[in-house]
Order: sequence, then C-alpha cells, then structure tokens
Amino acid sequence: MESTSAPVPGSSPDEMFPVLTPDQQARVLAHGRSRNVESGETLVEPNAQGTKFFVVVAGKLDLLRLSDDKEDVVAVCGPGMFTGELNVLSGRRGLVRIRAAEAGEVIEIEREPLRALIQTDSELSDIFLRAFILRRLELIARGIGDLILIGSSHSLDTFRIKEFLTRNYQPYSYIDLERDAEVQDLLDRFNVAITDLPVLICRRTVVLRNPSNQEIVNCLGFNEGIDQTHIRDMIVVGAGPAGLAAAVYGASEGLDVLVIESNSPGGQAGASSKIENYLGFPTGISGQELAGNAYAQAQKFGAQVLIAKDARGLACDRRPYALKFDDGENVPARTIVIATGAQYRKLPLQNLSRFEGAGVYYGATHLESQLCRGEDVVVVGGGNSAGQAAVFLAQTARQVYMLVRSGGLAERMSRYLIRRIEESPTIQLLTNTEVISLEGNDQLERIQWRNNTSGNFETHNVGALFTMTGAIPNSSWLEGCVACDSGGFIKTGSDISNEDLSRANWPLARPPYLLETSLPGVFAVGDVRAGNVKRVASAVGEGSIAVSFVHQILSE
Ligand SMILES: Cc1cc2nc3c(=O)[nH]c(=O)nc-3n(C[C@H](O)[C@H](O)[C@H](O)COP(=O)(O)OP(=O)(O)OC[C@H]3O[C@@H](n4cnc5c(N)ncnc54)[C@H](O)[C@@H]3O)c2cc1C
Repeated sequence: MESTSAPVPGSSPDEMFPVLTPDQQARVLAHGRSRNVESGETLVEPNAQGTKFFVVVAGKLDLLRLSDDKEDVVAVCGPGMFTGELNVLSGRRGLVRIRAAEAGEVIEIEREPLRALIQTDSELSDIFLRAFILRRLELIARGIGDLILIGSSHSLDTFRIKEFLTRNYQPYSYIDLERDAEVQDLLDRFNVAITDLPVLICRRTVVLRNPSNQEIVNCLGFNEGIDQTHIRDMIVVGAGPAGLAAAVYGASEGLDVLVIESNSPGGQAGASSKIENYLGFPTGISGQELAGNAYAQAQKFGAQVLIAKDARGLACDRRPYALKFDDGENVPARTIVIATGAQYRKLPLQNLSRFEGAGVYYGATHLESQLCRGEDVVVVGGGNSAGQAAVFLAQTARQVYMLVRSGGLAERMSRYLIRRIEESPTIQLLTNTEVISLEGNDQLERIQWRNNTSGNFETHNVGALFTMTGAIPNSSWLEGCVACDSGGFIKTGSDISNEDLSRANWPLARPPYLLETSLPGVFAVGDVRAGNVKRVASAVGEGSIAVSFVHQILSE
C-alpha cells in the first residue's frame, strides 16, 4: 500500500507542535473553559463533527489513529501544546481520537470562539494556522486518514478521485490493482468485485463503488452544518483564485459569505505546477499550495464553502437573487460574485474522451508528472499555460514535444518561459503542427501529428498528452441572466453598452459599477469576465475589488 505524499515545506516539530507561553494560554482561556481530565478519558472520537480544540495545561493528550482495531499514536501533546488541524477551522469531521494519557488539566474551546480568537489575536492566529496547515500536510505525507482508494493507474475515474482528494487536502492511501498482490484479500474482505473499481473505502466502513465527487463529499461530511436557507450578504460562485479572494476580503470585512464550488478549491491555478509570476513568491508557488492557503484563510475569517456543488442556474428575475442547484434547492443572496472561470478547449479528436485521465490531461502538476516520469510526452498549445507545463514536465520526462498549430509561440507568452523552452535540451518545439489521432487500448499509447506546412505525418509512441489550447468561459449556467460577449465571457462595468442595458431592463439611474454585470448587485470577476487578462494576480485583484462594490450595494 502506498501513501499519498506531499512535501512538508521546511517544517520542524517545534512549528508543528509549538508550546504556548502562560500568557498565550491565558488568552485562549478567555475564550474557553478550564477542565480536569481523567487518565484514559476520551475527549474526541474520530469522525466527530464540530471538533473541539484543547490546550494542555497539565498532563498529556495522545492523538491516536485507528486502523484494524489497533490504535497508533500519531502525536503526543504535553503541557502548553494544543490539538487540532485544518478540520477545526472548516468544521469537518476529525481524523484522530484524542485521549488523555494521564490525568491533568486542559483548556477546552469550541470552534466558533476559537475562530473569534484567531480573528482578533494575530500572534495566536499565526501560531495556530501554521501548525494546522503543517499538521494536515504531515497527515497527507504519512497517508494518515481513513480513506483507502483501490484503483488502476489506467482508469479515468481513479485519476479523478485521486485528483479530487489531493485538491481537497484529504489524506488517503492508494492501492494499485496492477501492482499490489494483497489487493484481492482486501477486496474480498469488503465484498468488492473487480468490476466495481475504483473503490473508495471511506471511514474504514463505507464502501463506495466508483463514487461521484458528490458522494465522496457526502461520506466525508464536507458540507454538513452549512445552512443553505438564510439570505447571505454575498454568494461567491467558484473557488478559484478570484472566488477565494472575494471570500477572504468579504468575510474579513464582516460579510456573511457562502462560496459554492462545483469541484475543488483552486480552480485552474490548482492545476499549475508552479506559478512564478505571482507577486511576493520569488521562487514560485505551486497552485495547490496557493489555493490551499487561500482556502484556509477564507475559512479563518468565517467564509463557508460548499464543495462539489454545481450552480445550475440563477433566479435573476427577483431580489434577493437565488442560486439554483440540481436537487431543486435555491440558496438566496443579496449580492452575487460570479467567479466560475474558464476551462480548456478540447481537441477535436474522435476518441479524446476515451483517454481523458488515461493519457490525456488538462493540468500539469506533481500528480500527472509522476504518471509519465522518464517517458515522452506531448504538450499542445502555445500560450503561457502550455509553456509552463512543458518546462515543468521537462524536469522528469525523457522528451517533451511541444506542438503549436501556428507559426510560433504566442506573443503573449512570458519572456522567461520562451527562454527556458528555447534553452531546454528536452523540449522540442514543433510549429505549424497539430494532433491528428490518438491510439491505444485502455491507456493512450500512440499519437499521430501532422506538419501543416510540409504535409508530413509522424506517429510516436507517447502515452501522455497535455492539452492547453485556449479557454471557454463557464458562463452557460447563467442562461441569459447577464450580458455576455460573442465568446460567452461576461461583460461588466463600462463594457456593457446602452443596448445591453436596455435589453437587460437595467432598473437604476446609475450605470453599472466596475465589475458589475448587467444585473444590479451581480459581479463577474476573473477569467469568466470579458476583458480579463487571465492571470492569477488579476483574478485575485478583481475578486477583492468586487467586495468594495458589494458593500456599496448592501448600503444602497
Ligand atoms: C496549467 C495552468 C497554469 C497556469 N499558470 C499560470 C501562471 O503561472 N501565472 C498566472 O498568472 N496564471 C496562470 N494560469 C492562469 C490562472 O490559473 C487563471 O487565470 C486563474 O486560475 C483564473 O482564476 P479564476 O478564479 O477566475 O478561475 P478558475 O481558476 O477557472 O476557477 C473557477 C472555479 O469555478 C468553479 N466553477 C465553474 N463553474 C461552476 C459552477 N457552475 N458552480 C460552481 N463552481 C463552478 C470551477 O470548478 C473552478 O474551481 C494557469 C492556468 C493553468 C490551467
């Protein structure tokens, strides 16, 4: 059985398990209560919701992982140390049992007062947040959790589930059917037929056969306890960089914010191996890390996030507006920030969908690069994302063929990427070239491409194709509620013509604010917006700017 691994960046035991000073403990106590514990007393069971947080004053607490009726000690908290990891902020069910190893005294604090403390005490906020994030990374690195995924590296659904768990920072163990002899034993134990794969064993008891992301979320209880009935100040649709920025600024400025995300937090940025041009990160930052930190930050300020929940429509003919979902639910809001971004265009190839996740990928992260280590790969596209993918994959692949349909790399491509592509001995740039066909059985095995200048065809044994060929906005779910340009990108502010406004029956004397759509109080930010420059920085900037106009609308 292999564990999922993620680097724990420069963490030391002192950072993961810091000791609070008596003064810091007193500040925690002001938000909780002191209580005695008996030796052997269980304070929290795994899977308990609304996990409590404890600071040890005297004695010791064991943090225990349960596996096969056995208890393994994951960590021990002595005097001054505290329990908890990211679950404490999100309110999701905990992963470990907390038990007193000896009689002593603890400070007990509930989740809401803890959040209030984090928001007002910046010193403790830094200590707790850092420890929570590092502990979660450590749990992932050691595969400590109660999820076991059994699948095949040739399966699209196995890849989907792995990606979903990874992007949601959920620790899991993975058993590859093709590589692990013990797998049959495990399948027999849970009465699972090979045809049911991939299988996710959730919380050690529930067996999910090829579950949807929604089913995984239900089993893990991600969305439990989030009220979907009361009118929110602001609903943000999409938890990419733009949506997370709106959530952080909105929640930190006291708004009641609900974020709705159809997949996992991070959006396209989460599919990026390394973002090198985002301000403040001179050595770059992985999209996953940036998104994970932003997600924790939004929750720290009290934003709530519904995961694997797809907005299917907007009730835009009345105020308050309401988001519509598949199950017929409507969630009302005074203002809405649309941050649903864009997705990559698909290559017009007949059997493309057969190989999606089994050789055809739309992101180039650590996860994908491991699947094609030491092999030849093809990257299609001439823009920044394609360039970044080619440079990243060149570190582990044997040969990267970069296929561009036009005569060269996009003019908008960053200079640093062009230079690295030109200087890399592993990257071969093929211009005027396009993919003609894909071949393989369960997995992509061969790719044929054509040089449109010479008319020559070539077929190569390549098992991984990364396609990054321009974006389509995720705006069709709005069904005509807002004015869009000819490409479906949402128009905002002064880009909305008088004609658009009269067609939309714009009811106000003032024109739309910057980033406001043709529907008052509904904003569009990031890649889904017409005229956006498709960068993480602009998405984050727009998400934060929209919040200042939300305040104006709420006070109108
Ligand atoms: C591989 C790759 C590398 C990149 N590298 C860089 C880089 O180095 N530097 C840089 O500046 N930019 C980079 N970009 C571009 C950058 O990631 C995007 O500009 C940025 O992510 C846009 O943010 P966004 O929040 O507007 O949209 P997105 O990131 O697209 O996020 C939109 C979110 O909305 C969700 N969503 C969509 N529809 C719905 C719905 N109906 N209901 C609920 N949720 C929905 C999606 O699941 C998604 O999570 C890269 C992009 C890619 C793909």
